[in-house]
Amino acid sequence: MTLTPFSFSTVSDIHLEWGGAGKLGSLLAERFTARNLLLVTDRGLIDAGLIAPIEAALAQAGFAVTVFDEVVADPPEAIVRGCTEMARGKGIEIVLGLGGGSSLDIAKLVAVMIGSDQDLSEMYGIGNVKGQRIPLALVPTTAGTGSEVTNISIITTGETTKMGVVSRQLYADFVLLDAELTVGLPQIHTAATGIDAMVHAIEAYTSKFKKNPLSDALAREALRLLGDNLLAACQDGSNREARENMLLGAMLAGQAFANSPVAAVHALAYPLGGHYHLPHGLTNALMLGPVLRYNAKVAAPLYAQLADVMGVQGDGDTQARSDAFVAHMLALMDASGAPRRLRDVKVTDNSLAMLASDAMKQQRLLVNNPVEVTEEDALALYREAY
Ligand SMILES: [Zn+2]
Repeated sequence: MTLTPFSFSTVSDIHLEWGGAGKLGSLLAERFTARNLLLVTDRGLIDAGLIAPIEAALAQAGFAVTVFDEVVADPPEAIVRGCTEMARGKGIEIVLGLGGGSSLDIAKLVAVMIGSDQDLSEMYGIGNVKGQRIPLALVPTTAGTGSEVTNISIITTGETTKMGVVSRQLYADFVLLDAELTVGLPQIHTAATGIDAMVHAIEAYTSKFKKNPLSDALAREALRLLGDNLLAACQDGSNREARENMLLGAMLAGQAFANSPVAAVHALAYPLGGHYHLPHGLTNALMLGPVLRYNAKVAAPLYAQLADVMGVQGDGDTQARSDAFVAHMLALMDASGAPRRLRDVKVTDNSLAMLASDAMKQQRLLVNNPVEVTEEDALALYREAY
């Protein structure tokens, strides 16, 4: 079989080590010459006591550390601008993002904006970042977004709309995967972020245009690891094996979807996050079932393959295996404790039309869906999720 041309990019330097955050000083010192460092994180991680030992390790290795801890969920543009201004004032030479997807997304953008006179408003979309960035290292504390290995930052613009900056400058120089940092994540967040990562793998595997042999291999292994370990990580947050495999799986899924983009699940999830401030992973869990059933009319052969990847029991034709895959995902989500209906998270019936209209703004994602989604289709999918 001949191959369709494709490109594949990812972070070139990845280190996985349980407890590795305690060695972050030496891990960074041996890779970078810059020593004036900005640590981008959120208040919750500081209060949880995660940041102080890392700061100490960095100082020990000769880094001057400035902490920016104002990252919030669904970060607005003002946070990026405020953080950039602070970093410029301090002459920051290297950025370390440590936290969930929001902290990593902010760190990526700030590392670009520090040395650039391009305004953030001109960066949205694909390939619109002009300048170069300063050195950038990322350390995720959730097994979900895969942001540590993607070239994407998601920012809330205006009141409710989420926009993406997608550019190769956002790939970091170095990523540390230390699953010990994920141990304190509560069960519901473990479930939601884990499901988000599974959605990344599934949507990358069925993406319409950029799916390729590398993204496929990564998505399959990601889904296998995540499917095997999600419930164990939910049941016992201190299960090291489950936590490590979830973090590895989420990273592999991130590598897959950075190159073979996500689609309708994410496009329909973003308006829910924007209007109802629901966590990203949770909104994906809410929309996954309806979108899988909708896409199956085209994607059934791929879903059947994913049933095999996940070791779903049973046999039958392609349709039967695809159905078994969808049923397996729904059962897994139920067992994880993630809510599955919009009404369960207080989304109101009369907002569904507005959500469908907003989802149409996510054409960057919708074009990747294996089946076309019109506004009418989106409304039907929200109704089904309601
Ligand atoms: Zn996601």
